[in-house]
Amino acid sequence: MEAPMMKLLAIALLLGAAPPAPPPSPSGDTSFVAYPGPNLFFTNIILYDGTGAAPRRNVSVLVRNGRIAAIGAVTAPAGVPVIDGTGKSLLPGFVMVHEHMFYPSPRPGEYGEYPYSFSRLYLAGGTTTLRTGGSLAPYGDIETARAIAAGEQPGPDMDATGPYLEGPHLLTAKMVRLKDAADAARTVDYWAGAGATSFKAYNYITRDELKAAIEAAHRRGLKLTGHLCSVSYREAAAMGIDNLEHSFAVATDFVKSKQPDQCPSSADTLASLAALDPDGPEIGDLIRTLIARKVALTSTLTVFETFAAGRPEAPEAARALLSPQLRQAYESRWAAMQASPRGRAWAQFLPRLMRMERRFVAMGGLLLAGTDPTGYGGVVPGWSGRRQVQLLVEGGFPFAQALRIATLNGAVYLGRDREIGSVEIGKRADLILIDGDPGLDPAALDRMPLVVKAGTGYRTRAIFDAMQGVVGLY
Ligand SMILES: [Zn+2]
Repeated sequence: MEAPMMKLLAIALLLGAAPPAPPPSPSGDTSFVAYPGPNLFFTNIILYDGTGAAPRRNVSVLVRNGRIAAIGAVTAPAGVPVIDGTGKSLLPGFVMVHEHMFYPSPRPGEYGEYPYSFSRLYLAGGTTTLRTGGSLAPYGDIETARAIAAGEQPGPDMDATGPYLEGPHLLTAKMVRLKDAADAARTVDYWAGAGATSFKAYNYITRDELKAAIEAAHRRGLKLTGHLCSVSYREAAAMGIDNLEHSFAVATDFVKSKQPDQCPSSADTLASLAALDPDGPEIGDLIRTLIARKVALTSTLTVFETFAAGRPEAPEAARALLSPQLRQAYESRWAAMQASPRGRAWAQFLPRLMRMERRFVAMGGLLLAGTDPTGYGGVVPGWSGRRQVQLLVEGGFPFAQALRIATLNGAVYLGRDREIGSVEIGKRADLILIDGDPGLDPAALDRMPLVVKAGTGYRTRAIFDAMQGVVGLY
């Protein structure tokens, strides 16, 4: 081959091998931004600050450089975008601690991973910080957390848990069995090194494994929560576990036939809990133990509502986010639940569970909120956070207290309450704008036109529009 031809070929090869130019952003992430920030001014607003305090009316809130700079009778500095808050409420962004990046498929035991849509939908639903409550794809969650923190994509701050720390029986093939206590400690060490900032123990973990995992996490200054079954709440509290998921709904402490390191059937567990008087001494003793050991509980009423007959179906706007197959699967399972014995049992137990959660708080316990988008579906990110707050209110918490559970309490647990969790001067401007007053009508939470994270305002409608039908795809 002649030299010029060689040169041409080399150029062609070079061109062929070159990476293609990045495609135009398919996400439209920039189109979600209503106010780029970092300065904003809300005038004439109803302010629920997240501390549990009564709302302040007709106040202004100034955001400067992404932080709350002034609250009260201030005027808008020149050049700062002004949002008229007449008839609207301002809340801190939700801090939800039992979220997932996966969602159930129509086939039991199979889950799809949707970090792309879920990270954006959580934000659109007012969640500005979340902890994943266990991961089936920890590398994916850790990378998503990193991308959000680096400003490469919108989304809530993510405390990414490692893989489920599970014993001999697996809910899905995406989990792994711990071999023994040393394996539990090794697993925690490995995933902490890989970027996991939190851990979750699961149903069949043994006492030895749980103890080793807690110690390994604590050595690194990280926390560990559990959805337990083979280990009782009392046993886990004595080991120093930091948090227990699903509040009292999975406690096996009251199953009379329970054997050490063995998980009773879920029917036996539910029956044991349903037989308890929520105001009686047995649950009171357990609450005292948990509080003495500083164990936080996570309320996940959203997922339990789906198990209970007679409860509303997920709203149309939430179902519209699902692919046709996921939507159809959820709707038929929801219909079947209405007539099932399990649905009836849960319908009776749900108000009792709410009562236990209220008692835990009344006695001084730290109750956190999460939404847990699992079960058979219907707990859809973007709509689940507000529903969790509405259910806390239905359970008897005054709105301001329910909001605190879903905001400041989570921040306290995560050790970030100096930075986030309430609308206070100096804190990061993570805010939810509500059309109406959710303290008077919790349904107002469904009207959430704007969510602000660190001073950047996102048009929630634009995110929901872009995510129609995509849960199930990506
Ligand atoms: Zn979960």
